[in-house]
Amino acid sequence: MAEVTNNTNSEEVVSRNFIEMEIDKDLAEGVYDHVMTRFPPEPNGYLHIGHAKSILLNYGLAKQYGGKFNLRFDDTNPTKEKNEFVESIKADVEWLGADFEDRLFYASNYFDKMYENAVKLIKKGKAYVSDLTAEEMREYRGTLTEPGKEDPARNRSVEENLQLFEDMKNGKFEDGEKTLRAKIDMNSSNINMRDPVIYRVAHMTHHNTGDKWCIYPMYDFAHPIEDAEEGITHSICTLEFEDHRPLYNWVVEECEYPHPPRQIEFAKLYLTNVVTGKRYIKKLVEDGVVDGWDDPRLVSIAALRRRGFTPESIQKFVELCGVSKANSSVDYAMLEYCIREDLKSKRPRAMGILNPVKLVIDNYPEGESEVLEADNNLENPELGKRNLTFSKELYIEADDFMEEPPKKYFRLFPGNEVRLMHAYFVTCTGCEKDENGNVTVVHCTYDPATKGGNAPDGRKVKGTIHWVDAQTAITAEVRLYENLVDEEKGVYNEDGSMNLNPNSLTVLKNCKLEASLKDAKAYESFQFVRNGFFCVDSKDSQPGKPVFNRIVSLKSSFTLPAKQ
Ligand code: ATP
Ligand code: MG
Repeated sequence: MAEVTNNTNSEEVVSRNFIEMEIDKDLAEGVYDHVMTRFPPEPNGYLHIGHAKSILLNYGLAKQYGGKFNLRFDDTNPTKEKNEFVESIKADVEWLGADFEDRLFYASNYFDKMYENAVKLIKKGKAYVSDLTAEEMREYRGTLTEPGKEDPARNRSVEENLQLFEDMKNGKFEDGEKTLRAKIDMNSSNINMRDPVIYRVAHMTHHNTGDKWCIYPMYDFAHPIEDAEEGITHSICTLEFEDHRPLYNWVVEECEYPHPPRQIEFAKLYLTNVVTGKRYIKKLVEDGVVDGWDDPRLVSIAALRRRGFTPESIQKFVELCGVSKANSSVDYAMLEYCIREDLKSKRPRAMGILNPVKLVIDNYPEGESEVLEADNNLENPELGKRNLTFSKELYIEADDFMEEPPKKYFRLFPGNEVRLMHAYFVTCTGCEKDENGNVTVVHCTYDPATKGGNAPDGRKVKGTIHWVDAQTAITAEVRLYENLVDEEKGVYNEDGSMNLNPNSLTVLKNCKLEASLKDAKAYESFQFVRNGFFCVDSKDSQPGKPVFNRIVSLKSSFTLPAKQ
């Protein structure tokens, strides 16, 4: 996507990516007078962050050029497709903000057109029915260094081919017994052009067309026809299709589409330390390693949404990634950077204790409590203020107290004074321990004159810690995440299995959160001060009993790469 600066003169575009330059050229030369793009997922799994890039790229181009954007299910392969996937894909594309309006299409609705085009090719002497088995076909195809061999049926008459193709359609052959091949060039240096199969026999029920068809088109034949039927101008796909482009062009030309679409390839998005690729995600789901396609450790769109990512953060991420012709991996930390930046001033802060220990204020009046006011977000006053209750017994993070602190530890230890955020100064007086030596209660005294967190005599403290009121706090489950895989340690084991991080999920069952979080709704997110950004889990939360996912911690050593 183009980099855009919002300076006051609104001189906008700074640099254009190579796809935009190609489109500009096409428009200038009159090859097309408009732009139409599409996102063509195969409904055989959930979408992931890589697909988000493709969606936002295609949608963004259509919008930028005042054109149209289609969502098209590439459902020409009846074996793996499911309605569950169709529904999830629609929801994900919408959530990302790529509005396809009523421009939703199914490739399977073009089966008749594809059949007619195949017949047209036969009539032109450009396609023939083959009797070769899959194995023979491989043998005849040749290799990168050897030319292919002609199919014995290559010179069948048009009449015979028409009859045999109709017989294929009418179910007279078993799966694999016959195929329809394009008649191109067995000597081509591009193996894709050596008479590729364009139709196969497959006696299978299709989720949309039922049992109407027992022959199905191959991807390289179907895809250009789908694009051409919809009037797509720029068919944007990933690099692995580069070698298929001559075949794409052959199909739209031989099928005689008057305004044929044009294929342009870009590099796939790869992200470090995550599992992309539907096949691998599917395996993790099927093996029960993760809790479904939306497990917050995955980078499917559904998982990112459940984890607490926003569409804006993903849009920003895709924009920062840019569009390129060279494969490379993007640092996962850049995705984290984008969500932090997005939530920082947008979402309220709250106090939540992940590993609680009691703090008792020995000189605070027994049985009393008071209400303190706190800003929801200092960077964004529009988010207002909230009330916090305060009383004699609080919870603090266990690691905010140390009986014998090292140097430069400024939090609670006997004799030290710290600030309780939004509340008072307290001075630690000691602790209680259980028989194993674990601290169970920390004791302190407070200075009533420091209400609001400042001392009237101007004395300073070096540490500020967060807390929640024990009387009103809610107990909640909080889940912390690490990456599922670590590239430095190797993603795969020698036997091909995945080398999974055993610490990818930590469940904390006894977290103490401020009372205002009790009614937080699914997908709502908060900054828990000092602990990171957290989002209410949409699957496991109960009314009044939220479960929180950590989206991302607060700190990072990540810096934005310099602009090229
Ligand atoms: P996967 O390899 O993850 O299974 P796929 O390419 O098989 O994905 P499709 O449903 O066929 O998934 O792809 C839909 C569109 O998304 C295609 O145009 C494809 O090129 C694009 N796409 C898939 N993965 C990525 C990626 N990592 N980065 C950018 N675009 C991608
Ligand atoms: Mg695919």
